[in-house]
Amino acid sequence: MLNLKMYINGEWREAINKEKRNVLNPATGEIIAQAAEGTIEDVREAIQTAKEVFNSGIWSDMPAAERASYLFKIADKIEENVGELIRLETMDNGKPLREAAYDIADAAACFRYYAGLITKPDGITYHVSDPIQALVVREPVGVCGLIVPWNYPLLLSVWKIAPALAAGNTIVYKPSEVTPLTPTKLFQIFEEVELPKGVANMVMGAGPVVGNEIAESEDVDLISFTGGTKTGKQIMRAAAGNLKKLSLELGGKSPNIIFANADFETAVDYALFGIYAGSGQVCAAGSRILVEESIYEKFVNRFVERSKKINVGPGNDPNTEMGPLVSEEHMDKVLRYIEIGKEEGARIVCGGNRIKGNGLENGFFVEPTVFVDVKPSMRIVQEEIFGPVVVIEKFKDENEAISLANATDYGLAGAVFTNDGAKALRVTKKIRAGITWINTYHNTYNEAPWGGYKQSGIGRALGTYGLDVFQEIKQININL
Ligand code: NAD
Repeated sequence: MLNLKMYINGEWREAINKEKRNVLNPATGEIIAQAAEGTIEDVREAIQTAKEVFNSGIWSDMPAAERASYLFKIADKIEENVGELIRLETMDNGKPLREAAYDIADAAACFRYYAGLITKPDGITYHVSDPIQALVVREPVGVCGLIVPWNYPLLLSVWKIAPALAAGNTIVYKPSEVTPLTPTKLFQIFEEVELPKGVANMVMGAGPVVGNEIAESEDVDLISFTGGTKTGKQIMRAAAGNLKKLSLELGGKSPNIIFANADFETAVDYALFGIYAGSGQVCAAGSRILVEESIYEKFVNRFVERSKKINVGPGNDPNTEMGPLVSEEHMDKVLRYIEIGKEEGARIVCGGNRIKGNGLENGFFVEPTVFVDVKPSMRIVQEEIFGPVVVIEKFKDENEAISLANATDYGLAGAVFTNDGAKALRVTKKIRAGITWINTYHNTYNEAPWGGYKQSGIGRALGTYGLDVFQEIKQININL
């Protein structure tokens, strides 16, 4: 059994009150680790450390190329430990090894991306008024509170940690309480590359206790949060005291629009990938498939036929195509939504149950589930289920597709499938979402900004935008 501790000021530490929390393997229900259950006092200590280290200038004043060299070393170490990281990611999250391998490779690439970016010139000088020149410079924000969910335990952490450190900030980071394994390994790597003590601090524990203290603390200058929209709103309120900078990556209910003139099999393939990758526990999941009337029946039949063939099993079995849900609590939430859908009058044409046979009875497995005969006002159409549950709606024409696509409070992602390039661009531009795909789904690149419109968030991760979040901009007016 693994014993996981917090990492504060370069020391591995239990919580002050020595409390621990069990961490489970969602494929078997077995306890695989015990993690420190941090208290408010632990968080305060981590924040004070981060503040003192930031003010010391040891990291914030270090030349960018030197900071970058640490990030390059971290990327190398991630690759050296890739096998262990993949195994750990699958152990507490449950995702298939193949998906974990992709995420870990991407995490190394993200460190390299920001290591490179921070050393590139971005200076601006304005000749504002003789003889005065205005120089625009970027500086780190200060102490950054980074709070992440469980669906991409390592990768989403790195999307925040890499740009925050590259920019010269110090951090107080909190992994999800259900997936602390790969975050712990990442902090072991920080220790191995001798990242200066106190630059990166990790606290663990309950969101409403540990996470809330990070959000409320007047000594934290910025919060970068990824998680549910409801939690995002709580964090926004908690962060108002000292008007922290905020970056919020929240939930979604993303439309996947399939026109009759799309390549049919390509559309089916990506629609399956769009909802079942990560067992549907993906913020950008294509959880609402909108299909043009003339191919609706054919599409539903093929989609259901393929959904029934998906090999559901433990993530560490190489034949598994879809793993379990992350926890019993989350599985119960997804199963409740399936009941809600039935009560609302929607019709299940595939799945709808927990999987109990084939040695999966102790894990948290749910069948790929497809609802038809839905109305836009139904909760299963409006609310994020975050599981392998999809609704398939019918539309008559382009205008109806766009209006259905935009008919939720979310605006994270959306996709369009058609062989008509002009139509693809026209419809994509009308989708009120920050991430869109044409004839593909789920592609994510370190260079390209990630984030949502409407209640899917504020700000963007990744790319130069993801670095902007962690930098203040100053003008220096020079009279020489
Ligand atoms: P969650 O909001 O329950 O928890 C996320 C993190 O916030 C966890 O570390 C949790 O401990 C912490 N937390 C909980 N309550 C808190 C509080 N009051 N104050 C401070 N911190 C608190 O989300 P989850 O269930 O872990 O993750 C699923 C959600 O994340 C989904 O809604 C999904 O769409 C969203 N998500 C969004 C993106 C994106 O990029 N937009 C990516 C992945 C996941």
